[in-house]
Amino acid sequence: MELTHRQEQIIEIVKENGPITGENIADQLSLTRATLRPDLAILTMAGFLDARPRVGYFYTGKTGTELMSDQLKKLKVRDQHSVPVVVNDQVSVYDAITTMFLEDIGTLFVVNQQSMLVGVLSRKDLLRATMGNQELSEVPVHIIMTRIPKITVCYKDDLLVDAATKLIENQIDALPVVIDRQDGQEVIGRLTKTNITKAFVDLVKDE
Ligand code: ADP
Repeated sequence: MELTHRQEQIIEIVKENGPITGENIADQLSLTRATLRPDLAILTMAGFLDARPRVGYFYTGKTGTELMSDQLKKLKVRDQHSVPVVVNDQVSVYDAITTMFLEDIGTLFVVNQQSMLVGVLSRKDLLRATMGNQELSEVPVHIIMTRIPKITVCYKDDLLVDAATKLIENQIDALPVVIDRQDGQEVIGRLTKTNITKAFVDLVKDE
């Protein structure tokens, strides 16, 4: 994160004099408290400063890496996930392969007639199916998919780092983002390794 000259001045003042009130920082810079408010908000949000009620601002002393790690830990699945691509459990393996190519994605989620999650199809699941002597337009995907209760899911309010941990631990590329319903789980998103990589790169770019 690129700091303005004034923000750097504020950090220096707080480093030297903290804990110090916003009023006092403003005095030292000959500015009004109102002018300073956005800078103080940014510095607090980014983790350079901390504010305690009735005490004032103090310098956290956190390094760039610690600050970035703090930001990463705050990210939620809801900020990063992609739209899901679902197929019905009765469609053929052939049609699922076509959908995967047309949609240009690596994981399809499979739903039943009630549009509730019942399975997952990865690239390798579909490749494997092509290796047998089966007629691909005759075999429904529910025969070859990974099915519930073996499916690992996440929720939009989960922390991104927790979802990323599930991807690593289960050695999979994507998680369905779901909402629990009475008759199953509705798929509302798709969280992939690419989403995690993008979140990471975005954070570094912001630095
Ligand atoms: P690929 O098989 O193309 O390498 P994955 O690593 O994502 O892709 O999938 C590995 C296996 O795990 C596949 O059989 C797939 O059906 C299954 N799988 C993928 N995603 C999930 C998930 N969210 N929950 C449970 N199983 C999954």
